[in-house]
Amino acid sequence: MKEAVEIHIKGLVQGVGFRPFVYRFAKKYEITGWVENSNNGVKICAEGKRTNLILFSEALHNQSPEASKIESFHSNQVSIQNFTDFNIKKSENTSNEITGICPDIAVCEDCLEDIKTQENRISYPFTNCTNCGPRFTIIMDLPYDRSSTSMKVFEMCEFCSNEYNNVLNRRFHAQPVACNHCGPTFQFISKGKTHLNFDEILKQICNEIESGKILAIKGLGGFHLMCNALNESSVKRLREIKKRDGKPFAVMFRDLEVLEKYAEVNESEQKTLLSWQRPIVLLNKKGLNVSSEYKIASGVCNEINTIGAFLPYLPFHHLLFSQLKLDSVVLTSGNITDEPIVISNDEALEKFEGLVDGILIYNRDIYNRTDDSVVSVVNNEPRLIRRSRGYVPSPVNLKFDVDGILATGAELANCFAVGKESKAFLSQHIGDLKNMETFEFYQETFYKYLKLFRIEPVCIVSDLHPDYFSSQFAEQYSIVNGIPHIKIQHHHAHIASCMAENGLDEKVIGVAFDGTGLGTDGNIWGSEFMVCDYQSFKRYTHFEYLPLPGGDKSNEQPWRIAVSMLYQYFGKDFINMEIPFLDKLKGENISLIMQMIDKKLNCPLSSGTGRLFDGMASILNICAHSTYHAEAPMRLESAIANNCKAFYPYLLDVTISFKPMIVEVLEDLKNKLEVGKLSAKFHNTIINCIFETVVKISEESGIKKAVLSGGVFQNKYILENLENKFRKYQKIELFTHKSIPAGDGGIALGQLAIAANQFRHHA
Ligand code: ZN
Ligand code: ZN
Ligand code: FE
Repeated sequence: MKEAVEIHIKGLVQGVGFRPFVYRFAKKYEITGWVENSNNGVKICAEGKRTNLILFSEALHNQSPEASKIESFHSNQVSIQNFTDFNIKKSENTSNEITGICPDIAVCEDCLEDIKTQENRISYPFTNCTNCGPRFTIIMDLPYDRSSTSMKVFEMCEFCSNEYNNVLNRRFHAQPVACNHCGPTFQFISKGKTHLNFDEILKQICNEIESGKILAIKGLGGFHLMCNALNESSVKRLREIKKRDGKPFAVMFRDLEVLEKYAEVNESEQKTLLSWQRPIVLLNKKGLNVSSEYKIASGVCNEINTIGAFLPYLPFHHLLFSQLKLDSVVLTSGNITDEPIVISNDEALEKFEGLVDGILIYNRDIYNRTDDSVVSVVNNEPRLIRRSRGYVPSPVNLKFDVDGILATGAELANCFAVGKESKAFLSQHIGDLKNMETFEFYQETFYKYLKLFRIEPVCIVSDLHPDYFSSQFAEQYSIVNGIPHIKIQHHHAHIASCMAENGLDEKVIGVAFDGTGLGTDGNIWGSEFMVCDYQSFKRYTHFEYLPLPGGDKSNEQPWRIAVSMLYQYFGKDFINMEIPFLDKLKGENISLIMQMIDKKLNCPLSSGTGRLFDGMASILNICAHSTYHAEAPMRLESAIANNCKAFYPYLLDVTISFKPMIVEVLEDLKNKLEVGKLSAKFHNTIINCIFETVVKISEESGIKKAVLSGGVFQNKYILENLENKFRKYQKIELFTHKSIPAGDGGIALGQLAIAANQFRHHA
């Protein structure tokens, strides 16, 4: 008996070889009918024997391509039309609904084989197939077809076209399919000369890098700057070019085997490094007792004990390492300070010519700029710190409707989000909006998302802070488009973000720890214990306020916070105390700071955890001046001594005071306790404080779920130990971030979730 069903599959099913996969199984189970891509998923009409239809459906579920993700699967009986064959129909743009856009996928093993063996793809650096290659970075519109990508200007040769049209071929409907005869090509510009032959280019690049030169290389989502990771002077010069003082650079290693000589890699980290997303993974550097041949230049990480490492993900990277005599290269984003990474050839030539020793470009446009993503593995789970290439624009599925809500995010490490039905589409990492070019990138991407995902805006959400560029943008947008502008408190949004990621919709205990965020009392918050849901939050307690002498200036000068802390706890007398770091400061500076505090001159009050870390880093003489965001906390974390379980006291009253801790810290300093132990004790104190306070709130409120969010939870030591502590305790279930950044890059998701609940209730 023949039957017929119509199947509608939604999720990430475009651009991942889904239709050929359907086709193959249709053939296998003697199914007739058709499969078609539309902008709201994949539709299948299948006729065949009942048992075969069941096997076919099972295969669709269980054997789908690696990068695909089925989110919904609807099947219903239809009448038989007696198809004689199974066909792949042409895409139709049928509705305003959209389906997932695939993120970019690292080159697959088969393609790597092809560049060694397939005649017209020998050493071809743009080789790809339905299982791999560029996606989001080249897409201009939906449905995902070659004509909607920046591949549209390349006409396929006969060979590629045959592969593209052959359902049984791995390149069937692989939109960016290309070969040596018809696809994009590289050009290398060096010393005023342009080189076109790829084999020669590759040789030249290897020579230059080996001899210590710096090159700009067009990558997948933007340009990279590249140099020898072992060459101290190259790395130093790279810092000068980028105008980047101290922030660690990422290093690409030849392969896993080589990487393991330089860094500790556990099983989950291995999996993450080798995943098709190929992010930068933060790994612990190998200890000092390793022979010096396995040490990258000290200027790469600048005394931070982790290294951002990643493995080749483009055919070009593999081809490079096949010739390069080095095992690793610094491969850092091609930008100057806080500007967005360069994506166009013209801009690269304009910005980098004269600065670097050579520029490698190719003639396919990058349409959507994406940085390399950054992941830290904690308790065997990958946690995204920077969410971009490989992860964007995969949506976050929510349990409620967020359709038409636009969330503009925070300011630093900005990401925005747009709502479509019950999905949140977070943008790629945008960066610091205070930078003019970054703010332009933000606006451009914002409008791209509205178009790409067919958004009909109903309201726009921003942070409470009126000075954030994202808040001002929301205000303007709301006026021009006549839609409401909702403002959400920063730390409430942090907690809501983690709730949304974990599918929670109830009252929880929220712990939002970060550097800064405007509070409802006009002060700067950042150590917030709250009881909240999406509707509202109640601040339970926080660290006591501390004046920040000079406001934002104190972010770059942690010593100011140390002084403010000591002054608050000990009055003027602290000047006469024996604290080593004070010797390094001039007396006049200190008295000026005290005057500012006395007169309340530009001294906003802050409860930010980040500031406590800054103050501690300064008192411990680890970092008195900060050259990049979160340097002091990163250095403090790096200093932690292993296996030190000791901790300091603190006072939990209406607010939380660390005066008892500082008293003992000074005592420890006097007794010359090593810095590593001091740092460990400090971190353990924060961990204890969070744990005990959450337990107390739980006992008082009866709430058994706690949620951690905010940049402080990107601190591996704190997150790991807290998760373990709560796991042992058992009475409270702890929720933390995994696929969404705990820092301000995750804020937009929380804004979206809160606005959805508040707006719908009031509408
Ligand atoms: Zn491939
Ligand atoms: Zn071709
Ligand atoms: Fe924050």
